[in-house]
Order: sequence, then structure tokens, then C-alpha cells
Amino acid sequence: MLIDDSSDRHKHPNQEISQEINILETSSSKSALILIVDDDLFMRKILVRYLERENYRVIEAANGMEALTIYQECQPDIILLDAMMPVLDGFECCARLQKLPNGDHTPVLIITALDDRESVDRAYAVGASDYVTKPIHWAVLRQRVRRLLDQANLRQQLEDTNKQLAVVVQELRRLVSIDGLTQVANRRCLDEYLEQEFKRSQREQIPISLVLCDIDFFKNYNDNYGHQEGDRCLQEIAQAISKSTNRPADLVARYGGEEFAIILPNTDSEGGMNVAIRATEIVRSLQLTHDFSRAANHVTISCGVSTLVPMQDLQVTHLLKSADLALYLAKAEGRNCVRQNAYVPD
Ligand code: GH3
Ligand code: MG
Ligand code: MG
Repeated sequence: MLIDDSSDRHKHPNQEISQEINILETSSSKSALILIVDDDLFMRKILVRYLERENYRVIEAANGMEALTIYQECQPDIILLDAMMPVLDGFECCARLQKLPNGDHTPVLIITALDDRESVDRAYAVGASDYVTKPIHWAVLRQRVRRLLDQANLRQQLEDTNKQLAVVVQELRRLVSIDGLTQVANRRCLDEYLEQEFKRSQREQIPISLVLCDIDFFKNYNDNYGHQEGDRCLQEIAQAISKSTNRPADLVARYGGEEFAIILPNTDSEGGMNVAIRATEIVRSLQLTHDFSRAANHVTISCGVSTLVPMQDLQVTHLLKSADLALYLAKAEGRNCVRQNAYVPD
């Protein structure tokens, strides 16, 4: 006889089945799809009947090969797998299942008459989640199926949560390095990146250029057009300056107030000047009306450029001071222009 319940060997299997019905279900396992794989037609039918009464949806396969095909078509939530079968046995079937998409996430419960240690070890080695022996103890089988489905659900929930968390972390990373108003890199990001690239230039003895851009007569702009218009202007200027760079390593950041910085790793003074001139031209081409500027009748910027191949004793502050001095020269010489400053050690 295939079915047995050790608690009462004289009960007919169907009697036991009917007693098991209507016992509390976990909602997650209620409509789960179960694939039953067994070459013994009688065994399959009994399992189908039992599990359908437990409110599961059930599909069948008569051997391992058929199981693999049906698995891929139907993506069951759990597989009840006989070990000894023709064509492809349960062990080999289980091993192949692990390599199919999502296969290693689908619980496999081996149901077999084999109860020797080697068979049990082999089942777990090929990826089975659990093992029950025939004759089936129905109360145990019922709990094992539920437990495995619950575990698979939890695992899925955990994976979904992890994916959501990864998206949130990525967004947070973006937010901590972005300036909220202008959407270019913020000061914190600028400081970190400048330090990193300065050190790289120092190690590799390659040039690094820094451009500081400052909006001309911006106080007048704010005072006359209002702070909100001023903010909108800052956003447009930030985007315009961003268009002046081409290389992935270049970084445009808000340095403070109405000042922006462009970090240009591995860029000589000619390259630095080119980017700065391009930035002023793009800003000019926006033709944002500024009737209160003394440099032009539209919004303009002034840029200071500094380039260094940093000697060992130099710091980032040297590069910043040097670019600041160049910016001062651009302001002093009429604004709406670019000036360069070669670093001269004290
Ligand atoms: P200069 O040509 O010499 O640079 O003159 P300026 O008026 O641009 O320079 P100043 O440093 O005197 O003024 C900068 C102004 O930038 C002051 C402030 O009103 C404005 N500003 C700074 N940050 C913001 C901001 O986030 N939003 C707005 N709307 N204005 C800002
Ligand atoms: Mg300023
Ligand atoms: Mg200014």
C-alpha cells in the first residue's frame, strides 16, 4: 500500500484526507500552484486529490523530463518530486531545475520510498528543499508543503524589499551629491571630487584644470527681478555651464551662491581655457535679459581658470586660490570674460 499514516494504520487514506480539510490556511499558500511529479499514476491521483482538497491548484508530470517542460510553461510555486522514475529520475531532474530561470527559488520536496542515508544526502546535494518518505504521513506532508511555500514567499518578499531598498539607496546617493536648486553637483560632491582628482594628478603628474564661474551683477538681477526669477536664472545658467564639458570625468558643481566650478581632470591650460570660453558663450547665447547689468544687456558670467601639475607639497586650496585670483582678474577687467592664472608658488 502506498499511503500510510503512522498514527492510525487502519484508516483509509481518504478518511485521513477529509479530516485534514478545513483546517486553518495561511493566505499566502492558498492558491499556490503545485507540480506533482511521479511515474506512479495511482500515487499522483491521490496526491492531486489530497492537495486539491487543501485548496491548492495542481498540475502533474509522469517523469523528470516532462516535469522540466511543464515547469518552464507553468512556473509552479512548489514541486513534489518522486526520486525513482524512468526517463529522468528525481535527483537528476532536481539538479537540472536549479539551472533553469528561477529554478533555485522554487522549493522541491522529494517524496520517495528511498530512505537510506545516501539517497537523502543526494537529494539535498542536488538542491531539494526537503524530503519525505513513503508511505506518506499526510499531516506531515501538509505541514511541509505549507512551510516550504511560506519560506518561498518570505524569500520573495525579502528580494522585492531589497530591490526597493537598492533603488532608494541609489536615489539617496544622488540626492546627497546634488544641489537641490540647480540639479548640478553640490559643494560636498565638489570638495570630494576635487580632492580625489587633485591627488590623482599629483600621483600621476598630469595636469588638472579648475574653472570658477560667477554670474555678473547678479545682486542687481535679484534686486530688480525678484528672488524667484533669480533662482530660475541660476537654474538656466547651471544647465548652460553643464553643456560646456564633454568628458565623463569633467564635473560641474555649484560652488556657492551664484558661483559654479568646473573640475577638469587630465586637462591642460589650453583645454581649461577652451571649456571656460565655451561656458561664457553658451551663457551669452541664452540671451537672458538683464537690464541692470553693467557688462551687457543680458546675463553674463566671468570665469577664472587655473591649471596645475601638482607638486608633492601642493594642496587643493592652492588650485582654488589660483582660480579665484583669475576670476578676480576677469571681474576687474570688465566681466563677461575669461582670465587665466598660472600658479606661482609663494
Ligand atoms: P559681480 O558681478 O561682482 O559678481 O556682482 P554680483 O552682484 O553678482 O555679486 P555679489 O556677490 O555682490 O552678489 C551675489 C548675489 O547672488 C547675492 C545674492 O542675492 C545672489 N544669490 C546668491 N545665491 C542665490 C540663490 O540661491 N538664489 C538667488 N536668487 N540669488 C542668489
Ligand atoms: Mg559671487
Ligand atoms: Mg556675481
